[in-house]
Amino acid sequence: MSEKPQNYPKIRIANTAKHKKSDTNPFVKNGKLYFYSPMKLPVLAKLLKVNETEIIKKLFLKGKIVTINNDLTNELIAEVCFDFDFDFELLEIEEDDDDLFNFSAIKDDPKDLVPRSPVVTIMGHVDHGKTTLIDAIRKSNITATEAGFITQAIGAYQRDVNGYKITFIDTPGHEAFTAMRSRGAKVTDIVILVVAADDGVMPQTKEAIDHARAAKVPIIVAVNKIDKVGVNPDKVKNELLAYNVISEEFGGDVIFQEISAKTGQNLEKLLDAIIATAEMLELKANPNRYAYGTVLEARLDRGEGPKATLLIENGTLTNKDFVVAGCAYGKVRRMTNEYNKMLKVAGPATPVQVIGLSEVPEASDQFMAFETEKEAKEIAEKRKQAKILSERQATGGVKLGEIHKQISDDEIIDVNVIIKADNSGSAEAVKASLEKINVKGVNLNVIRATAGTITESDVLLATASNAVIFGFNVRPTANVRDMAERSGIEIRLHRIIYALLEETEAAMKGLLKPELVEKVTGQAEVRQTWQVSRLGTIAGCRVTSGVVKNGQSCRLLRDGVIIYEGEIATMKHGQIDAKETHKGYECGMTLKNYNDIHEGDVIEGHEMVEVKTDVQ
Ligand code: GDP
Repeated sequence: MSEKPQNYPKIRIANTAKHKKSDTNPFVKNGKLYFYSPMKLPVLAKLLKVNETEIIKKLFLKGKIVTINNDLTNELIAEVCFDFDFDFELLEIEEDDDDLFNFSAIKDDPKDLVPRSPVVTIMGHVDHGKTTLIDAIRKSNITATEAGFITQAIGAYQRDVNGYKITFIDTPGHEAFTAMRSRGAKVTDIVILVVAADDGVMPQTKEAIDHARAAKVPIIVAVNKIDKVGVNPDKVKNELLAYNVISEEFGGDVIFQEISAKTGQNLEKLLDAIIATAEMLELKANPNRYAYGTVLEARLDRGEGPKATLLIENGTLTNKDFVVAGCAYGKVRRMTNEYNKMLKVAGPATPVQVIGLSEVPEASDQFMAFETEKEAKEIAEKRKQAKILSERQATGGVKLGEIHKQISDDEIIDVNVIIKADNSGSAEAVKASLEKINVKGVNLNVIRATAGTITESDVLLATASNAVIFGFNVRPTANVRDMAERSGIEIRLHRIIYALLEETEAAMKGLLKPELVEKVTGQAEVRQTWQVSRLGTIAGCRVTSGVVKNGQSCRLLRDGVIIYEGEIATMKHGQIDAKETHKGYECGMTLKNYNDIHEGDVIEGHEMVEVKTDVQ
């Protein structure tokens, strides 16, 4: 594949804050006046192509006195339009404060947009062939002449398919995808879900589906390893039905492509499927603006300083531009593609590597290009300030008690929910019941409902999707609880489905009352057990978090699932009765009326505390 050298674009729209505001002049189109705010009479007269005195006279006859120097109110403008047979529309001035940090606010004029390449991420269960597929696609692209000196330099590359380019992001797996999303970056247009035909749908397959769904990104299923003898690719199709990933032949809209990443069989067909999906998405960008996009990865190179791989999402980047990436800024000193080839110019959906930044940005930071260093520096500094501020007040996910406050009359708020339950039947039951709750202004989306304990992956998905986690008969480990707390993710735990539903409905209606909420005081891991005829089973424990108290309410967890609920009957430090045991210390415990305690179980102490749920 040989690249045509591109020329520098002649004119580009700037990424400045002024850009959006500059265009607030009123205008007339197809007999309709569009205006932003009060305007002076001569401006209106000129736009409507009528005499100023004509307007003054008409208004005067209605008892309204205006002069040439007055600002006409919106009502007067409307009245004048009415008199002179013009339709009118008051346009809102977009605020410009946030676009330094959030370029999704930048809007292009539709007439400036041209089709752009799709950006694709490959996901799937471990060992199903993601890396092999990435390698196969990359290798199939390299021509004999280039093959000798090419080493893949950056974590993304473009594949040319008959003149049509597809951008692949290299890092397979949903961790990278979700980590990006949890930091606000949405770089992927299409997810390729690799499922090995000999293994079928596995836990990470399901997780990948959840992540793609939560990101509202279309999925193409690559049924891999069809070169293996005796595999049945149709089995994958049937299994995925249960997750609502439905192939076209079953009446759904998901493309399934059987492939062998190892032999290269049907690779071209998979690429065609990507192109077909991309065409439906009508992906567009404006090449005639200064570039912006996302940092895919960055590191410090000993010789060359900070090096960042950028995915240009919109606009054109040149090696003369100044770039802000996260809080770093600098002139693009050198720009290269995935084959280390120097580029002068790179357009939308192109991954490039740049050097010249003042410091190393973080993966998923947003970058923007500017004409002058002054602009870039100013914005980098503002971002730095904002970052310090936001770190001080990390907010995290949605809080159930705050849902009602967010509901407004004309907007529907989305509440994302993750359900974890002791078995898949109850996960489904909780999901179905939650989805039936109907409260005006709230749209409840269950983005995951599976069996098993609450894990770090759940908290990660919750962070990325701003979700609340419901645990039904399951508990998180102390580590997961800490992670959720740090990320500001709310975990709600229940044992009775009615209580869970009532609480959710009340929260949506804003009726959540100050209430008694259970607080876990600490957890202890059972290291050893002894049978003593007089006492039953004694559990030798080490407290792994918080404090566990003698006589307090407790539950026994096995693999995160509640096995017993009751009280701690006795607690001893050696031979001596103990009141409580703190993190890091050991104790012997017995449970009231319960003896089936195993090594590896967790005893969790809890008590009820009153909380205010902050509802107006
Ligand atoms: P990943 O963990 O999803 O990235 O999986 P890998 O790409 O590392 O593949 C796991 C194993 O499956 C490796 O031993 C590959 O050689 C093998 N593999 C991958 N794709 C195919 C295929 O299409 N056919 C066969 N027979 N083996 C494959």
